[in-house]
Amino acid sequence: MSLNGTYDDNNIFAKILRGEAAAVKVFENEDVLAFMDLFPQARGHLLVVPKKVRARNFLDLPAAHVEPLMAHVHKLAIAVEKALKPDGLTVVQFNGAPAGQTVFHLHFHIIPRYEGVALAGHGHANRADIPELQKIAAEIAAAL
Ligand code: 5GP
Repeated sequence: MSLNGTYDDNNIFAKILRGEAAAVKVFENEDVLAFMDLFPQARGHLLVVPKKVRARNFLDLPAAHVEPLMAHVHKLAIAVEKALKPDGLTVVQFNGAPAGQTVFHLHFHIIPRYEGVALAGHGHANRADIPELQKIAAEIAAAL
């Protein structure tokens, strides 16, 4: 899908936001939902999505929603660092399939990086163990 197009209400993150699909949640308020990536590229891979907007990508996001979203990405990145003590942290976001985007509801990735541990390929990682994700989510939530 290119940068331009129609928002698909049946994308998996829209379903998670509506409660129609399960997710291991870390934080939720009226503006954002943060939940664990089901196919983590590294231990603690977290996703942050805006609520109340039908934005496929960052360019679609109405200006008024930028500050609350980015403030939460920042806060959650700090919590991930505090909870998991990684050696590095990648904060990244893809716009359009040619850029690597596979789910077309805007989201930011917060990916802890560990010295000497290679990152699993984007879109090629194994499905995580849910109890393990729940444990990590609780650790991050406790650090907020
Ligand atoms: P994108 O490729 O669009 O930047 O990122 C989409 C992310 O969503 C990927 O990292 C992928 O592992 C993750 N993902 C795909 N399906 C699901 C799902 O059903 N649940 C969760 N929690 N993450 C998913």
